[in-house]
Amino acid sequence: MYRTVTINYRPCKASTSYKCRCTECGKTMSRKAVVEHTVNPWNKNEDGSVRTEIEVYRAAQAEADAKAAELNGGEVVCKTCENKPIYDHLRMLLQANPEVISDPKRDAPEYTPIFWLLEWKYIQHHHEKDPSQEFGYRFVGYTLTKKAREWGRKNGILEMAA
Ligand SMILES: [Zn+2]
Repeated sequence: MYRTVTINYRPCKASTSYKCRCTECGKTMSRKAVVEHTVNPWNKNEDGSVRTEIEVYRAAQAEADAKAAELNGGEVVCKTCENKPIYDHLRMLLQANPEVISDPKRDAPEYTPIFWLLEWKYIQHHHEKDPSQEFGYRFVGYTLTKKAREWGRKNGILEMAA
């Protein structure tokens, strides 16, 4: 005879901070080594007893500490440097198509770069009421979304293009 047994894999997450340096800009930053183990019937101590939550957490913590010690002082590429090519590309697109920032223009979507911006969900569609159209609205054009504008300002993209 079979019976169904529900087993809960209770997660125990541990993390340890370490320092690393960006190879591009030289900035030192703090990152976290995160390790997650679970409490389950197969997670056992050396004596064969099932690990308690505290024991599982300690094991995860020891692994996180070891991982952090290994990564400490290492070299990485920071988010800003990693995103720089994307930011440069976006800045270039906006300089070439400044009308998409706030002034919708019907011909904007004809430019290839707008499709790239659309792809990244930086673009908002604008419509006007027009009863002569099939759905009662006429497409006017595109502008950057509010979120994209905030993001652009924060990352120094819009001050150059606007
Ligand atoms: Zn960097």
